[in-house]
Amino acid sequence: MKKEFAVIGLGRFGGSICRELSQEGMQVLAMDLDEDKVNEYRDIASHAVIADSTDENVLKELGLRNIDHVIVAIGDNIQASMLTTLILKEMGITKITVKAQNDYHEKILNKIGANHVIHPERDMGKRIAHHIISNNILDYIELSDDHSVVEVKAGSRLSGQSLIDLDIRAQYGCNVVAVKRGQEINVSPMATEVIEEEDILIIIGGDKDINRFEKNLIVDD
Ligand code: ATP
Repeated sequence: MKKEFAVIGLGRFGGSICRELSQEGMQVLAMDLDEDKVNEYRDIASHAVIADSTDENVLKELGLRNIDHVIVAIGDNIQASMLTTLILKEMGITKITVKAQNDYHEKILNKIGANHVIHPERDMGKRIAHHIISNNILDYIELSDDHSVVEVKAGSRLSGQSLIDLDIRAQYGCNVVAVKRGQEINVSPMATEVIEEEDILIIIGGDKDINRFEKNLIVDD
């Protein structure tokens, strides 16, 4: 059965989620207070409605209860975002993803019971900062406060060595989970895999371990 989603708040973030989900063939109910925003999504989402998500009766009438996953993408109006989340939680929605505006907002959303709180501006800022610090770090995803996944260009220092030669897990406490070579991606590479200079390594581990790995084995271009 197709999953059903609702996106509340059709700003740049909510709008982009709505567009992507719809393009992937999902059933999406798009909701915003603003008529112009709703009109923009009439031909994109399965349903687009003008509604105030802080009104519990409206959410009930719209059948939100039967939706699998609700994304609350209200930004500036923190009060509306929190109230909406609380109502959705009380309605028994099992998956609620909410965009947080700041750390204080995030903390409260977690307390209310949002399943997933995202902070797109902060996270994107961190990813770009890592890329700016080192040209070889192509991407960075924070898994927790002290664990991440990074995508790094192998470079000359690693070139010609196998994963077993490099002994990354024992020496640095992190794992190479995939090696990208051109269009090919080798997930769970063998220990005998020999790294080439242009390879991109996807590494998972503690931040300190990843940092040590980068400092010792990755030469900045
Ligand atoms: P962006 O994703 O563009 O950065 P933003 O973080 O600036 O957005 P806002 O523009 O404040 O977020 O809000 C996103 C959308 O949420 C707006 O289109 C706004 O009309 C809508 N919105 C705000 N409050 C409610 C509400 N109570 N019910 C439904 N939609 C709402």
